[in-house]
Amino acid sequence: MPTTRTVYDRAVYQEPTPIPDKEDPFRSMMERFDVAAHILELDPGFYEFLCKPARVIITAVPVVMDTGRIRVFDGIRVIHNEVLGPGKGGIRYAPDVTVPEVKALAAWMTWKCAVVDVPFGGAKGAVVCNPREMSPGELERLTRRYTSNMIDVFGPDRDIPAPDMNTNEQIMAWILDTYSMHARRTENAVVTGKPKILGGSEGRKDATGRGVMTVTLAAMEKLGLRPGECTVAVQGFGNVGATAARLLRDRGCKIVAVSDVSGGYYNENGLDIVDMQNYAAANGHLLKGYGNAQKISNDELLTLDVDVLVPAAREDQITKYVAERVRAKIIAEGANGPTTPEADAILNDNGVLVVPDILANAGGVTVSYFEWVQDRQGYFWTLDRVNRRLDRMMTAAFQTVFDEAQKHDVSMRIGAYVLAIHKVATALKLRGIYA
Ligand code: NAD
Repeated sequence: MPTTRTVYDRAVYQEPTPIPDKEDPFRSMMERFDVAAHILELDPGFYEFLCKPARVIITAVPVVMDTGRIRVFDGIRVIHNEVLGPGKGGIRYAPDVTVPEVKALAAWMTWKCAVVDVPFGGAKGAVVCNPREMSPGELERLTRRYTSNMIDVFGPDRDIPAPDMNTNEQIMAWILDTYSMHARRTENAVVTGKPKILGGSEGRKDATGRGVMTVTLAAMEKLGLRPGECTVAVQGFGNVGATAARLLRDRGCKIVAVSDVSGGYYNENGLDIVDMQNYAAANGHLLKGYGNAQKISNDELLTLDVDVLVPAAREDQITKYVAERVRAKIIAEGANGPTTPEADAILNDNGVLVVPDILANAGGVTVSYFEWVQDRQGYFWTLDRVNRRLDRMMTAAFQTVFDEAQKHDVSMRIGAYVLAIHKVATALKLRGIYA
């Protein structure tokens, strides 16, 4: 049997680009949480309960490297809240990942699941490592040992991991296998975002980008804009950005600019997204050297005169310096935390409709939920069924968040937090505190 592991193509580590105004992600989450808690007049005890993670697990992950030397990596898993259901959240492999970052990401998962009405709590995991410097065998051993250390944490009814930065379907398959070996049965509902042959769902790969497309169309409708007359700029040309760009183009929008770590690409007549995807696929997932466009900087892309801006790269991209110059009418946040709290205020004052990350990029966790349901039913849905259900849930969540924001006369971001915190707090009140 051939052992070439092309699967690593997607897990190739990309150096993090420096972020000039890097926020403390937990502080950034709490700033929004505080505003929403104030609106809700949240009980101080509930406040304390909801901002503290339920569990933070830090574990040493020893790995025998190919040289025979043992190296010990830090493995992290944070379960932020389990009031609405088992923990759900990705696992990232990165050299610069920290516990506060994982705590913030876990909390975002709690709010995200609540916003789209998915019966999960929030969790997130990480291993501090540089996958680019590791062989496939080392990554497999790292993944298996991390999973084995988390054997009492993970489980289809306890905590369900998924891929995140630098982890992929193959890594989910190893988690599934390691967990199943311990459980003495195949338990495919223990992870989502796994290969289809192991119980993965149709539509999972495109789900986040598809969700971004759905909420963008809903936002256009609110502003009376027709897709066929709208121009769009997308920052980030990976899974989320490229899919959102392609699907928005299919709905008639003109995608005038996209960017990746190699810079921005602009064409006022509209870019050929499929051609760019093919180019990137054959070019190490990079647009570097792409010819049919004018080269622009990432800063220029973010401040282009377009109707819609989709930040789908990474956090802290729309800082207060950028926000002052944003000309888009709609921002649909494909990435997690792309806008800083200071930028929020400026965008709000300038009347930009920001569809916040905990709503806009929730398509991924929604289809992860579908995957978990299908695994537990042992019955798999067609792509059409997955997409229809996803569109329905994203459209409903958009409307609910929009109404909540109007009710309190706040931004959609604060509306989403109010909705999510209210939901989790109501469930907590009903369940009570086990003594
Ligand atoms: P990815 O690795 O597939 O793509 C990231 C893209 O961003 C790449 O094209 C990369 O070159 C580009 N990029 C990185 N830094 C950049 C910079 N400074 N300027 C411009 N481009 C830059 O990642 P992805 O899965 O598409 O995720 C993107 C964002 O969406 C992340 O914030 C992630 O947490 C969030 N997200 C992803 C999912 C999902 O299902 N994949 C779900 C929810 C949220």
